[in-house]
Amino acid sequence: MYEQAKQDNHKAKKMFGYALEAEKVHAELYEKAFQAVKDGKDLDEVNIYLCPICGHIELGRPPKNCPVCGAKASVYVQL
Ligand SMILES: [Zn+2]
Repeated sequence: MYEQAKQDNHKAKKMFGYALEAEKVHAELYEKAFQAVKDGKDLDEVNIYLCPICGHIELGRPPKNCPVCGAKASVYVQL
């Protein structure tokens, strides 16, 4: 969908691009959680923050600016 939106120069390309990048981070976090389960543990980090604009998730503390959409730390929501 991202490639098609880019090809069509459709405004949805921005949000598809955000989703694509955010999902890469989600995949890394799922792998981290899966590894913890396999080791019989839980994640070390319990502070989880969500960028409500693009869906980026950060463990620990929100970044100064979202690496996906550039939103400020103040917009992050703690889950
Ligand atoms: Zn973001």
